[in-house]
Amino acid sequence: MPHPAVEQAMAGLIARNPGESEFHQAAHEVLDSISPVLEKYPEFVTARILDRLIEPDRQIMFRVAWFDDAGVPQVNRGFRIQFNNVLGPYKGGLRFHPSVKLGTIKFLGFEQIFKNALTGLPIGGAKGGSDFDPHGRSDNEVMRFCQSFMMELFRHVGADTDVPAGDIGVGEREIGYLFGQYKRLAIAFTGVLTGKGLLWGGSLARKQATGYGLVYFATRMLAARRMEWHGLRVVVSGSGNVAIYAAEKAQRLGARVVAMSDSGGYIYDPNGIDIGLMRSVKEDRRARISAYAAERTGVEYHAGCTGIWSVPCDVALPCATQNELDGDGAQALIANGCKVVAEGANMPCTPEAVRAIQAAALSFGPGKAANAGGVATSLLEMAQNSQRLQWTFDEVDNKLHSIMNGIYDQCAEAADDFGEPGNLVLGANAAGFVKVARAMMAQGLV
Ligand code: NDP
Repeated sequence: MPHPAVEQAMAGLIARNPGESEFHQAAHEVLDSISPVLEKYPEFVTARILDRLIEPDRQIMFRVAWFDDAGVPQVNRGFRIQFNNVLGPYKGGLRFHPSVKLGTIKFLGFEQIFKNALTGLPIGGAKGGSDFDPHGRSDNEVMRFCQSFMMELFRHVGADTDVPAGDIGVGEREIGYLFGQYKRLAIAFTGVLTGKGLLWGGSLARKQATGYGLVYFATRMLAARRMEWHGLRVVVSGSGNVAIYAAEKAQRLGARVVAMSDSGGYIYDPNGIDIGLMRSVKEDRRARISAYAAERTGVEYHAGCTGIWSVPCDVALPCATQNELDGDGAQALIANGCKVVAEGANMPCTPEAVRAIQAAALSFGPGKAANAGGVATSLLEMAQNSQRLQWTFDEVDNKLHSIMNGIYDQCAEAADDFGEPGNLVLGANAAGFVKVARAMMAQGLV
């Protein structure tokens, strides 16, 4: 039975945020597992921490108007949800994708609060973005859109206030245009965005950080089952920033990544992905993943992305988008003997998938813990910007590695403390929530 405070908070959230199903799902996932925490800390209930936590500090929504290359005016919607800054300045990515709506940004911002708390670093939770689709747009169109987007956003962000980063559809190109416009408006060269280019304030290893961090986290999950990467078959969905560097690191550790995807389809490469070719197709040429199959022998291309979960593997790393792995996908993984599922994307597994994976005693690593390496390294980028220094790749990578080990340890220990050893969903939610709740108690009713 959920704690009554959980039921009250969830009912309030649904009533005040109608139709925002992704936000409902993300909140339910967290609230569902923290009843034992509320039993242990009744003071959180008295202070109505849950009701306060599910209401964002600030929700900013604005029109983004820009001219396309044909001179035709275009209109998009921009968002920034500053969810909770009790642990530090707001921090969280910007997503540019046509599916983005208010509920998407709220779900991502809510997750970000706990993820950032788990890193142990001083950062609060936020998220933003737009329904703008950079696919098929020229560089000039992307630049004009980013400049218009920043015209509004710059009033709300700052190195000590709110520091956005990239996410789906926002890579170094977009961060560059956003940064250039911020710099012009604010007359200040500060670390207001992370994911910057290496020549202008970026951090070495930031590009790799989410994917590498995911693999460091999954290494601990494997070790708990007395397994290591060597010889394992791995399926990685997506072929964007997170997916490419997760695949690269898994292969460097001796695994064979046999399948990857994009929103059009997936490729099966039984000999193991050629990372150089994948980067050339997806990063340099911004082409479809079918081009990879066309350029390498022995590779199959299948249209449609959900079929990827029927490729037999030992480890599955969903790294594309929310709700991409459903109950059927989970059953296919289980039937084929998969042992570990770790989320590189945010909420890629549906609740049915998570239940099936846990019921079949596979190890499951929730995204808010497993993919926290990106935001953690963003904080390392902010630290370098404040120091006016650039650390070496190994320095950053070593720090990332120890942060991911720390996150795993916190999750495993919290799962033990609350009586469900190995349940990293409970562990991540409980450990993140307790930190945020304690800080909220200390800072009073604001
Ligand atoms: P990218 O834009 O670099 O890549 C996204 C990938 O997912 C692309 O291969 C894209 O294919 C695919 N994709 C997008 N939408 C869908 C869909 N509806 N169905 C199937 N595939 C889809 O994004 P990132 O790699 O940065 O982000 C991926 C996930 O990781 C997101 O959930 C993000 O929130 C999360 N994340 C990212 C972090 C980061 O540091 N970048 C940090 C923590 C989490 P296509 O090219 O066809 O659109």
